[in-house]
Amino acid sequence: MGSVDDFSRRLLLRRIALAASLACVATSRSEHAHAADAPLIAEDDPAAKAVKYVADASKAKGAPPGNTCGNCALYQGKYASKEGPCQIFPGKNVTAAGWCASWAPQM
Ligand code: SF4
Repeated sequence: MGSVDDFSRRLLLRRIALAASLACVATSRSEHAHAADAPLIAEDDPAAKAVKYVADASKAKGAPPGNTCGNCALYQGKYASKEGPCQIFPGKNVTAAGWCASWAPQM
């Protein structure tokens, strides 16, 4: 009888672990969906102005050639995406072609 109880307990623990991991995946996908749906930050937004953000790096004053949001360490968009979240603008996206004075090299 003890082995049946052990088996049931192990089965229950496995199901709990599976449910917990599925919940984590669902939450993660939901966060990515929200990030993809976030609005682009406007260049005249005070937070954007504070770091001289522009949606097109070629129009930025002082942007070193080749530095864009797409190759910034703070950019959180997917590889080759046209826009994505930036760590300094929670809830807003930036364009991959953009730039700001907080640009940081990827490690
Ligand atoms: Fe773009 Fe990087 Fe500035 Fe964010 S910190 S706006 S990703 S250059």
